Amino acid sequence: MTLKLESKAIKAAVPQLKFRTQAFIDGRYVNAIAGKTYDSINPATGKPLAQLAACEAADVDAAVKAARRSFEQGVWSTRSPAERKAVLLRLADLMEQNVGELALLDCLDAGKPITDCLTMDGPDSAHCFRWHAEAIDKDYAQVAPTGPDQVAMIVREPLGVIGAILPWNFPLQMAAWKLGPILATGNSVVVKPARQTSLSVLRLAELAAEAGLPEGVLNVVPGSGSVIGAALCKHPGVDAVAFTGSTEVGRLLLQYSAESNLKRIVLELGGKNPQVVFDDAGDLDYIAQQALSCVFWNMGENCSSGSRLIVHRKLKNKLLARMIEFSKDWIVGNPLDPATKVGPLIEASHLNKVLEYIESGKQEGAKLVLGGRRTLLKTGGFFVEPTIFDGVKPTMTIAREEIFGPVLSVLTFDTEAEAIALANDTQYGLTASLYTENLSRANRVARAIRAGTVSVNCFSEGDATTPFGGYKQSGFFGRDKSIFAHYQYCELKTIWMQLT
Ligand code: NAP
Ligand code: MG
Repeated sequence: MTLKLESKAIKAAVPQLKFRTQAFIDGRYVNAIAGKTYDSINPATGKPLAQLAACEAADVDAAVKAARRSFEQGVWSTRSPAERKAVLLRLADLMEQNVGELALLDCLDAGKPITDCLTMDGPDSAHCFRWHAEAIDKDYAQVAPTGPDQVAMIVREPLGVIGAILPWNFPLQMAAWKLGPILATGNSVVVKPARQTSLSVLRLAELAAEAGLPEGVLNVVPGSGSVIGAALCKHPGVDAVAFTGSTEVGRLLLQYSAESNLKRIVLELGGKNPQVVFDDAGDLDYIAQQALSCVFWNMGENCSSGSRLIVHRKLKNKLLARMIEFSKDWIVGNPLDPATKVGPLIEASHLNKVLEYIESGKQEGAKLVLGGRRTLLKTGGFFVEPTIFDGVKPTMTIAREEIFGPVLSVLTFDTEAEAIALANDTQYGLTASLYTENLSRANRVARAIRAGTVSVNCFSEGDATTPFGGYKQSGFFGRDKSIFAHYQYCELKTIWMQLT
């Protein structure tokens, strides 16, 4: 289904949607073995959207066995690079042909604005598969510098069976970031999407089968993280787990690995990202708009959300006034409306958590200058106003903890050294952005900030060609995107040959 970005077309398309609600194991949709189901909620209405299979450890075991069998049989793992590339390119084509459907699924299931789903998440996810597919037959192995009587080849081989545990904030895109490199390198995989947002990933599995991915290579088990996420991480038949989510659950995964088979764990975790604006920054209108996108995009439910604005004291009032003016563009509303830029938060408990952070900001003495309240209550949805606090001190809770909502803390500085110290004053290190017209300062500060991605004079996570992941407690072991993501899903083998 393709979809025009206009209300009438969107309204007409919703009733035509068909939800895939069963687990996808060994190439077919199946109920959970115990027959249990759970409701996925539409966060814009608070009402159930679909009833999904509530998988348990036995279902995970079936999925891992299917993945293992497909891996051992070599139906994917030993296919030629050109053949694997062709299948993943077909998948990217199919995703583009069905982008309207995939976008609507994420919009309804996660409350993400349809404009974002249709113009970013959908096409970017297809592009992600295409990029990794194209890389497959362009990445060479190496030959070591031996003497003339030996040949030593250093080759990469797929790890085997990978578990992918996904968050709810970018359901389709996080699946693409994990599955692109995992499948490109010849692995088989069991995906555990977030409990709240499994619909687009379940549909993706069907598209992958249609593209020619053999049975058992890609399996999807919906259900609760503490049940099936844990079962996947403790499973002796899983060689690695790729995870995006909270730092707290990331820690558990490392324990599960240590207690089971020392499987490789790749963690992409939270952030408390700084946006630093120097007094020699350029056009303030532009910066105000970038800064708002950086914190409010995706309702602030974004690990790279720039939730700390660290601005030179001289510029602060001017920049803040412009940001408040432009915040009117951040329309809160029904995510199915193309004009909406801020949809609901994912669920009631998360909304309450965000409201508690807003309350703590007020209690600890920060000055609320925008928003701060739950809104659109009549819809039954979990909406909150975009919120800005001025006069935030580095010790306040809202300056230290990841809120995962549209809440900005504004802090000020006088010197470059102070700005760098504030930017780094966090347990996290995922992304940062900085604004200055001085090239030497841009280079100096970008290198001094301890974060995996630093964007200069813009808010950016880079593109498919650049690695994404965190320093400090924002990440562990690997990166999403780019060719670097391939290597973490591979073993490195030396083949040493003695010749006569
Ligand atoms: P989360 O609990 O870390 O969820 C991420 C994934 O891990 C989900 O699929 C979840 O399953 C699963 N999971 C939960 N407990 C598990 C366990 N014991 N073993 C294995 N897997 C497990 O994150 P959340 O509850 O969705 O959100 C909580 C906070 O995490 C957010 O407020 C935010 O701070 C952070 N977060 C960060 C990102 C990011 O992109 N860095 C994304 C999402 C959330 P369920 O679906 O059943 O929970
Ligand atoms: Mg949902």
